[in-house]
Amino acid sequence: MDLSTFDIPLCLPFRGVTRRHGILVPGPAGWGEFSPFPEYGPELTRHWRAAATEAATRSWPTAVRSSIPVNVTVPATSPQRAHDIVAGSGCTTAKVKVGEGDDLARIEAVRDALGPSGKIRLDVNGAWDLDEAARQIRRFIPFDLEYVEQPVPSAEDMGRLRRLVDVPLAADELVRLSDDPHHLRLHDVADLIVLKVQPLGGVWRALEIAEAIGLPAVVSSAVETSVGIAAGLALAAALPELRYACGLATVLLLEGDVVAEPLVPVRGHIELRRPAPDGAALLTWVAGDEERRRLLLRWEAAAAA
Ligand SMILES: [Mg+2]
Repeated sequence: MDLSTFDIPLCLPFRGVTRRHGILVPGPAGWGEFSPFPEYGPELTRHWRAAATEAATRSWPTAVRSSIPVNVTVPATSPQRAHDIVAGSGCTTAKVKVGEGDDLARIEAVRDALGPSGKIRLDVNGAWDLDEAARQIRRFIPFDLEYVEQPVPSAEDMGRLRRLVDVPLAADELVRLSDDPHHLRLHDVADLIVLKVQPLGGVWRALEIAEAIGLPAVVSSAVETSVGIAAGLALAAALPELRYACGLATVLLLEGDVVAEPLVPVRGHIELRRPAPDGAALLTWVAGDEERRRLLLRWEAAAAA
């Protein structure tokens, strides 16, 4: 198989990540993306490989909608930069990373950029303990939060926190890193779940997991190129119900893309389509020999896991 690799810088560091590297996998159904974060071992990356293989070889489920509402994602950055990112996105929902730097000033700037009718959700990536989560969420309640994503790491503390604060909670890492996501019981722990195609092993498996868990779902990206984002759109398009804007506008965080017409939002929505990699873009962002070798080793290790 002729695997293309890419190496694209991020406009701003995101959870300590400064570049996205990956493999693009061609197949009869289209292109798949394999772009696990560097710290993940084969036990986790086998799901990412399964998602890439599925995208290349199997058609996606039937779409029940063709336009996906999306949020703009705001990394832990300065208030001014946060304001500019939100104002420039055209989105009416913003997901703000917190737990790093001056969270309050960043949220203020985002509320200012969105105006009073925009929606703000926070993503903590499990960075707080129970006491701090309760304290911080109460501090941010005046900004009218839509929900808070993974404020604390454990399911037990999510359940306790849910009784302490009056803001919906979303489970992300709890689902994504679970050994057995089909059998998670989250109704007392979270109000909604976050689904990500690559970590969950593909569009079809993510759809099954959503059905098994039985909570409303938001589809988010793993900061992929448009090839990976297309799979997220396919999942968002196939969910029977979609109450929330999805975290799929993250091509905006990359300095480049592997397709000629990237999947970026227009007036807060991304239209359902599946762009193929573009020759010139692939050349621009091709991974160097060292990185390519590393990626192919991870691809092989994921198959053996
Ligand atoms: Mg998250």
